[in-house]
Amino acid sequence: MKEWRGIPREEIPWFPTMDEEKCTGCRACVEFCPNEVLEFHEAAGKARVKNPYNCVVECKACAKLCPVDAISFPDEEEFSAFIKKKLSGVEKK
Ligand code: SF4
Ligand code: SF4
Repeated sequence: MKEWRGIPREEIPWFPTMDEEKCTGCRACVEFCPNEVLEFHEAAGKARVKNPYNCVVECKACAKLCPVDAISFPDEEEFSAFIKKKLSGVEKK
């Protein structure tokens, strides 16, 4: 995805953040995400973010299936405020 609602995807800070301390290496998130956002780092035995901007904006599906709550996303209210601001800038162009 190159753009989302007219905003360049790389200007949108929506992607998972992995807590490596919590991750048990079950691979559920890596196997689930169809967009190659995540990869399994064999040496570390942990899931990591590989392609953050492949993440579908506002998707949180992988976080919901992580058994140890190791995946987080931006705060929804702050994110909505950020997008509103961005969109008002886009629409003025
Ligand atoms: S939130 Fe959705 S698109 Fe993003 S990494 Fe997780 S499953 Fe993939
Ligand atoms: S689902 Fe959670 S515990 Fe399993 S690999 Fe992903 S981040 Fe680690």
